[in-house]
Amino acid sequence: MTFDALGLSKKVLKAVEASGYTIPTPIQEQAIPHVLEHRDVLGIAQTGTGKTAGFVLPMLSLLEKGRARARMPRTLILEPTRELAAQVHENFIKYGQNHKLSVALLIGGVSFDEQNKILDRGADVLIATPGRLLDHFERGRLLMTGVEILVIDEADRMLDMGFIPDIERIVKLVPFTRQTLFFSATMPPEIDGLAKKFLQNPVSVEVSKPASASKTITQRAVAAPVDDWEKRAVLRKLIDEAQDLQNAIIFCNRKVDVANLWKSLDRHGYSAGALHGDMDQTSRTATLKAFKDGKIKLLVASDVAARGLDIPEVSHVFNFDVSVNAEDYVHRIGRTGRAGRKGAAFMIVTPVDQKGFEAIEQLIGETIEWDGETVEWDARAGRRGRGRAKDAKPARSTGRRSESRDGGSQREAAPKRDSERRDRTQEEPRRDARDSGRSRTRDRGNDRGSDRGQVDQVHSDKNHAFGGEEHVPAFLQR
Ligand code: AMP
Repeated sequence: MTFDALGLSKKVLKAVEASGYTIPTPIQEQAIPHVLEHRDVLGIAQTGTGKTAGFVLPMLSLLEKGRARARMPRTLILEPTRELAAQVHENFIKYGQNHKLSVALLIGGVSFDEQNKILDRGADVLIATPGRLLDHFERGRLLMTGVEILVIDEADRMLDMGFIPDIERIVKLVPFTRQTLFFSATMPPEIDGLAKKFLQNPVSVEVSKPASASKTITQRAVAAPVDDWEKRAVLRKLIDEAQDLQNAIIFCNRKVDVANLWKSLDRHGYSAGALHGDMDQTSRTATLKAFKDGKIKLLVASDVAARGLDIPEVSHVFNFDVSVNAEDYVHRIGRTGRAGRKGAAFMIVTPVDQKGFEAIEQLIGETIEWDGETVEWDARAGRRGRGRAKDAKPARSTGRRSESRDGGSQREAAPKRDSERRDRTQEEPRRDARDSGRSRTRDRGNDRGSDRGQVDQVHSDKNHAFGGEEHVPAFLQR
């Protein structure tokens, strides 16, 4: 199958050709013709499957008819994080090179003035994080009654981040007659309920099991004491001894640990930068660019900041902490070994990480090999809580509590109250010079009625039908 057979416009095909892609990915092959037929689509796919082009390309074709009116965007794409929104924006620029469309990016951390100017001129495409979009709407800068196509991307991530009430509000502001494209990597019951509520007679396309780690990634577990100081020494040894290390993303569970680890690596002379939800947007963009350009070799990151980032060539992923959610592990290591390249993923495991470690092995359905000694589980700690038992005391207290943007104790992606939601992480980060993600480059180193008809199911040959209980991977049944 080639792109020509999908029904895309000439201008779009020319841009695809210029990008060097010749064969559509399974999600593109399955979704594009339906989007072009104005159908609602439920896409079960994660990043890395080419899903962005799966909606950007047909949207560009459909947008060729008609023009934008001031303050009334024609299409609206909702993304959970700024980085993902920026990535979608890049896709519109790349594939829309033969179009004269106005594309607006509404994300937190960027001045309202600039964004207002674009809205005033009229946007064909509006890409936004939910909080910033509602801010503009509440200020009367935006009308959503002209939206013809609504894309809700990374719906499960929106759920994790507490954005669902915002999404429900936005959907009520968009016309009933819209076309809706809804993407999610996983389909927990809440997301399934939303899909039924938002979509009208959708075509369902599903590609690749999100819980499977790419076969090109070598995964290793490395035993370490609980103490952070010793874990950092273990990490440095891993970095120093890693084979063919070009660059690496190092994941921590908490923002405060991202900042501490980055400072420590910096002090030890490594070329490192930091990426987490409390950093201002300028620092985040600059750090990410420096990493993509190879000016920073090591990127210390939190899950929220790094999820879905498309950085094609990452040779190594280090899990400084065993992830609290097993699914985060799969997303973390998926930053390496992309597009068929080889990748290596190391996970530092301490005696109190038994539950988290076992949950990961269970999810991926594989035994992770140990690099050197295996860890001796602390039986008292291992069976309580995921990842790290609350009352398992580290040998040396390093203030290991989670940190929210208002300085409280909270895991980065787990908002509980409505009032916290829009303040959180990706939307309006606290400016904190200490965690600014500076980098040194030394050479080492974000309603319609319910139950709308039946879902037509279209599936890739290689993939299982969604809905048949026996085919539903374990993580989808949670
Ligand atoms: P996404 O899942 O949208 O984050 O895309 C992941 C990566 O796949 C991006 O780097 C895209 O540029 C790339 N990509 C998208 N479509 C294709 C295609 N048809 N062939 C090869 N690579 C693609």
